[in-house]
Amino acid sequence: MSTGAIPAAKPMIGDEERRAVDRVLASGMVVQGPEVAAFEEEFSALVEGRPCVAVNSGTSALHLGLLAAGVGPGDEVIVPSFTFAATANSVALTGATPVFADIEPDHFCLDPVAVEAAVSPRTVGIMPVHLYGHAADMTALQAIADRHGLALFEDACQAHLASWHGRPVGALGTIGTFSFYPTKNMTTGEGGLVVCADEEIARKVRLLRNQGMERRYENELVGFNTRMTDIAAAIGRVQLTKVGAWTERRQANASYLDTHLTGVATPKVAGGAVHVYHQYTVRAHGRDALQARLSEAGIGTGVYYPIPNHRLPSFADGAGRGVDLPETERACREAISLPVHPALTDNDLERIVAAVTKAVEA
Ligand SMILES: *Cc1c(COP(=O)(O)O)cnc(C)c1O
Repeated sequence: MSTGAIPAAKPMIGDEERRAVDRVLASGMVVQGPEVAAFEEEFSALVEGRPCVAVNSGTSALHLGLLAAGVGPGDEVIVPSFTFAATANSVALTGATPVFADIEPDHFCLDPVAVEAAVSPRTVGIMPVHLYGHAADMTALQAIADRHGLALFEDACQAHLASWHGRPVGALGTIGTFSFYPTKNMTTGEGGLVVCADEEIARKVRLLRNQGMERRYENELVGFNTRMTDIAAAIGRVQLTKVGAWTERRQANASYLDTHLTGVATPKVAGGAVHVYHQYTVRAHGRDALQARLSEAGIGTGVYYPIPNHRLPSFADGAGRGVDLPETERACREAISLPVHPALTDNDLERIVAAVTKAVEA
């Protein structure tokens, strides 16, 4: 019986990934090339065949995707505050203003009622985050977008293979973005990808990714260097063959925890949603004490996120000023993520349940 520490997350990078990297290194062609093109093609199969453009991070995917969709100074984009800072950062980096809206308590995602209340004449889009691997209510958000003539920009950075009423997240908006940071459900080391609603947006993202060039030295616009390397893409192609099975493990682990945990509020899944459990996040009163006790028992946990975006020093005096989001604040106090990653053993799962039970009774 193992008694070592159980990490909160465990990137799975194996021999096949090493061989793929070695193949690229041996070829001598390491920058964006055939591996990136193949990775984009293969990822596209997961998002209804939409055009995909790979970049160097999820943050770049959000930033370039918004720019390609035409977001800029004077515009407002409605975002959750209960998310990783990259969500609102990407809006701010375009020169637009992130407008923070509250979440609904069941799935920690944007509350459509709060979103509709935040719509102003300057609003151009809504950016739902499919937090922890659970889709935001895309049906209600689409209806709001239709009513007010807004775009949907999906932050699917935590939601590879998640779906909403049978459709993959990331393929439901004008853009959908993914991250391949090591702790995400699949990795390329660092990396990201923009799923585009049409070829015109995809072309703009490709231009922005590479100094505004399609043909070398005929720069059409002012762009970035946010290319993915063929080394990263080769890792990603191997990971794509495994992410399905890993997701099933995550779901099986979550199901075990749902059944056996007591004393904490386990995650809910909306009708029509397939949850991919990037995180298995419970609510607990006395969350910090629980985290400390679990740490003593060798159980790694995560608090995502302790400070809402609107109160971060980066936004507090700007877009976050005067913002009051009670459900977001409550989630920041109560949410704690338990290990759910595919490397967990049955024994690990039993230990997690036993340690939580003991900690909440203490
Ligand atoms: C990870 C993440 C990002 C950013 O991805 P990076 O690859 O780290 O730049 C954006 N949004 C959310 C919700 C994330 O979890």
